[in-house]
Amino acid sequence: MTTKIFRVSDISEGAAEISQAAEIIKRGGTVAIPTETVYGLGANGLDEQAVKRIFTAKGRPQDNPLILHVADESWIKRYCEDVPQEAYLLTRHFWPGPLTIILKRRSIVPSVTTAGLPTVGMRCPKHPITNALIKAADVPIAAPSANISGRPSTTSFAHVLQDMDGKIDAIIDGGDCVVGLESTIIDLTEKPPRLLRPGGVTLEELRRVLDEIEVDEALLRSMPDGEKPKAPGMKYRHYAPRAQVTVVCGYPERAAQYIRERVSDRTGVLCFDEYAFMFDKGNTRTFGRSTDLKAQAERLFDALRSFDDSDVTEIYAQCPSDEGLGLAIANRLKKAAGFRIVDLGRD
Ligand code: AMP
Ligand code: MG
Repeated sequence: MTTKIFRVSDISEGAAEISQAAEIIKRGGTVAIPTETVYGLGANGLDEQAVKRIFTAKGRPQDNPLILHVADESWIKRYCEDVPQEAYLLTRHFWPGPLTIILKRRSIVPSVTTAGLPTVGMRCPKHPITNALIKAADVPIAAPSANISGRPSTTSFAHVLQDMDGKIDAIIDGGDCVVGLESTIIDLTEKPPRLLRPGGVTLEELRRVLDEIEVDEALLRSMPDGEKPKAPGMKYRHYAPRAQVTVVCGYPERAAQYIRERVSDRTGVLCFDEYAFMFDKGNTRTFGRSTDLKAQAERLFDALRSFDDSDVTEIYAQCPSDEGLGLAIANRLKKAAGFRIVDLGRD
């Protein structure tokens, strides 16, 4: 199929493009959409056939549910029931924004969207184009990240084109994603609520709003065979470039030294800006200063993807500590490495 490209640089001048994209969604087609986190691969979340097209285009396993993207919190009751007060407490603080809440689904949401689960993930993205698109289509847009399953998520129009050209009906080019990592996922059907995936909203920020939050085990370690994580997506190797990644945690100086002792001609290095001088330029990628978590989040997936254009056979990556956005960055890096981790400590 030919993938139509919509370039919308300014929301006030993009009305015609947005209404064409909304028509594609209403007809059951697939449209890649810009959001503040990563690009999404969207379709009408209430249309079984449309949702199946998302799974096919990505090569996504059928047991990995999709998140519904809505225009505002008033849409929650259309698709969810038994909604606890905590839901609105969170939406008041963090919507529109990078937070997905898991709630009990109504039967209007097809089972293929939620991979058979009795719950559904709800998010209101903070991107004027996608927000306008959802309103114009007047349906919730189911959207996972717009990458081929297993690859790093897409944070720019160029990434989406690499992975999805010819496989979906349209792509809206809305520029680069400002957060760069997927949304935080919190399950409100559990007591206490449980963090299933760290993301753009930090655990510390959530704890300022909710008294008690449990952190899901699957987020911190590799899942043993046969064990079922609460967010099905957590069990897959994800975000991975072709070469095997090893994550080196601990004091940045120590990690850089450790990596330097192991590099060969075919070793890729992903390091903080201030350590780049220690490595050969060709196979080295930087992703922000060690103290700049926002830059690291924004640049991580692009850096991981770029190793696929080189001939490296292994990659060593420096890793931030688990504080603030660092928890989400470290989680994506460790998953990209299939939990191949060297911890040199911080004391
Ligand atoms: P992606 O959109 O690519 O970021 O993937 C969506 C993530 O949300 C996956 O890890 C899913 O497993 C998770 N997810 C979506 N819906 C649910 C749900 N109802 N319960 C638990 N996790 C979910
Ligand atoms: Mg994904």
